[in-house]
Amino acid sequence: MKYQIKITKTSQSNIENIDFDHLPFGKFYSDHMFVADYIDGHWTNLEIKPIALIPTHPGNMAWHYGQSIFEGMKASRDEEGHPLLFRPDMHAKRINASARRMCMPEIPEDLFLEAIHSLVRMEKAWIPPQSGSALYIRPFMYATDETIGVKPSDTYRFIIFVMPVGPYYSKPVKLLAQDTYVRAVVGGVGEAKAAGNYAASLLPAAMAKNEGYDQVMWLDGVHKKFIQEVGTMNIFFVIGDEVLTPNLDGAILAGITRDSIITLLKDRGIKITERLITIGEVMEAGEKGTLKEVFGAGTAAVVAPVCEIKHGHQIVKIDPDSFKISKMIYETINGLRNSTVEDTHGWIVPA
Ligand SMILES: *Cc1c(COP(=O)(O)O)cnc(C)c1O
Repeated sequence: MKYQIKITKTSQSNIENIDFDHLPFGKFYSDHMFVADYIDGHWTNLEIKPIALIPTHPGNMAWHYGQSIFEGMKASRDEEGHPLLFRPDMHAKRINASARRMCMPEIPEDLFLEAIHSLVRMEKAWIPPQSGSALYIRPFMYATDETIGVKPSDTYRFIIFVMPVGPYYSKPVKLLAQDTYVRAVVGGVGEAKAAGNYAASLLPAAMAKNEGYDQVMWLDGVHKKFIQEVGTMNIFFVIGDEVLTPNLDGAILAGITRDSIITLLKDRGIKITERLITIGEVMEAGEKGTLKEVFGAGTAAVVAPVCEIKHGHQIVKIDPDSFKISKMIYETINGLRNSTVEDTHGWIVPA
């Protein structure tokens, strides 16, 4: 252990009050959180302590100018109950990529990992044993200077908390391709897991809901024709016997689930291509019947099957019951997470 983390345990665990068989997503917190402060160019005051409010000055720069980034990852357990992490190094790298874009300090990878490992080991009892359930981990960092004026903050706080979550089985989703609002443009901040991106997505998402659609399919900001992502997930299409996903163009969030799926498909000899994909070709494949599967991909759901896409007046429907590749991916990733599928890539790391 390179870092000194001060540990203060709660005197009153809340775990008895949680029904692990009925866990909604994002509602229940474990007992402890990790906190660190960035002051004078160093990460300091490393501490795990009971989860509590964090009093904040009204002039806190994060509120006003939005320097706030986060990660989302999961811990699971093997059949003996040992806690496991999925590709934690990738999350350490990605939070630092987000930090660089938002002009925030990086977190040394070994500090990020030690904080995750320490907290997850301490909160081991909070990892639900049920298949598909997990301990969702939310690391985040925000500016803490109390200064009005647009400039990078000098001080920051890095916090990690964890939440037990049930299987995020998403019912098949209906997507509305959006050509009024865009999520991100090349040169913007779409590649960063920055809080403001999600605020910007709320209005178009609410408009889609009003029309009876679950999520927005984001198109590129210039031509409004190249598919980027759906909601807060990456997207995959199976057309004929080829799997397609948009190439990372600088506006798309580089999902770790996306990267894992590409690797798993290659392992299995399934043709996977990363390239520009137009909404027109997807709708046409849908009409011709060559569009076999569409699914979103992200840490929370792993895979979210899509049953309908609307673009303009055109609607395409597909039957998720017939999906094979997305089902195989879902089962493989969940199997890796609980050690029932062999990990040939070193993705699973004991916490
Ligand atoms: C987090 C996120 C994803 C998925 O990334 P994972 O690493 O697979 O969880 C995709 N798109 C957006 C916009 C995201 O915020």
